[in-house]
Amino acid sequence: MFETLSRRIRDAVDKLRGRGRISEADLKATLREIRVSLLEADVNFEVAREFVAKIQEKALGQQVLESLTPAEQILSVVYEELTEVLGGEARQPVLKNEGNVWFLVGLQGSGKTTHAAKLAQFYKGKGRRPLLVAADTQRPAAREQLKILGEKVGVPVLEVADGERPETTAQRLRQHLTFDYRDLVLVDTAGRLQIDENLMNELARLKAAVGPTETLLVVDSMTGQEALNVSKTFDERIGVTGLILTKLDGDARGGAALSARHVTQKPIYFAGISEKLDGLEPFYPDRLAQRILGMGDLQTLLEKAKAAELEAPLKAPGEITLEDVISQMRQIRKMGSFGDILKMIPGMSRMLPAGFQVDDKALNRLEAIVLSMTPRERRDPRILNASRRKRIAAGSGTSVQEVNRLIKTFDDMKAMMKTMHKTKGRGLFRR
Ligand code: GDP
Repeated sequence: MFETLSRRIRDAVDKLRGRGRISEADLKATLREIRVSLLEADVNFEVAREFVAKIQEKALGQQVLESLTPAEQILSVVYEELTEVLGGEARQPVLKNEGNVWFLVGLQGSGKTTHAAKLAQFYKGKGRRPLLVAADTQRPAAREQLKILGEKVGVPVLEVADGERPETTAQRLRQHLTFDYRDLVLVDTAGRLQIDENLMNELARLKAAVGPTETLLVVDSMTGQEALNVSKTFDERIGVTGLILTKLDGDARGGAALSARHVTQKPIYFAGISEKLDGLEPFYPDRLAQRILGMGDLQTLLEKAKAAELEAPLKAPGEITLEDVISQMRQIRKMGSFGDILKMIPGMSRMLPAGFQVDDKALNRLEAIVLSMTPRERRDPRILNASRRKRIAAGSGTSVQEVNRLIKTFDDMKAMMKTMHKTKGRGLFRR
């Protein structure tokens, strides 16, 4: 997430590290670098300018120049300002006890359908009784897609008919709310590749008939701040209460997220962080700012661990087996991409090399190797002689070198864990 922007801001600030006092010229040079990295991340021009101006003002006001740790001081000012630009206080859509009807609107391909299903799963997990509505009266394929996703998350899908009148849809919807005790209706509306007059009219009529309690604009952040330009039209024509920024995983440079509040004046409620149905996070500006600055995000990590019901192994380090490693790995992967999780650990992103990626496929290969072992081999890799290793490589579709590497890594890891255990972590840091 925001890999390049993150690294460039940190590099700019790092140059001040260990410098003792800095001059106003040093500060300005740092701010210039930050401004350029924002613009290159496709952040709105005005946002970048204001951002830097505010940091300068605060930095001078807080006597950063006098400070003996200027890098840390600047970092904390940048953190405050980043949080502010991302929206300040975290905001969530209004959720009443009953009668919640949320519209998801946006261009085709922005991730509306996927996010309707993600929201259904998210709120179902919180004890709600969602209903999905496939409201595209012109594209049966779009309705079909939602039906499939609804089945996956175990939430019923109400499908409109071709050319169904908005009044009819509204009436059917109310029946479901009343007779099926649904308390959160998520309406996946029609989308087009571009803003289109007919679409706006259709959405406005549906909105007038149904009366949603929230209208969420779904925005593809991969297309940068450009994606936000549609928000004005959507807002003028049908009213928008908040945003869902999708595809913040991958190559999103940050432009959409950092420009959103300025351009749209709406809060960002959620972030989409993978194609999978659990790839949804409530949007916390402060936590995201921490991640961008490489400060980690322990709160989100702990929440994910709790949701995945992650359990720590209750074994002494010497007794850990390959089976334990695989089961831990599976549990951690329930929380999302391995690489993203690593980066939520405070300080970790500083230790990882630039462009560091965990290849989730490589993890699958490791798993295949372990699964090709007999239970005895997994418990005691010392018995793995050459012919056993050959058998395992063949069975897992890998090579003997890969098997060797896994066993070596496991041995090293065990040794490291023993050291950590003995020195309560001090040994690790010395390493
Ligand atoms: P719609 O036309 O607005 O309903 O968009 P879809 O829900 O069909 O999504 C378009 C494409 O984007 C699909 O291939 C989705 O899998 C993908 N997608 C949606 N949300 C995300 C996300 O948060 N991250 C990633 N990587 N892909 C996403």
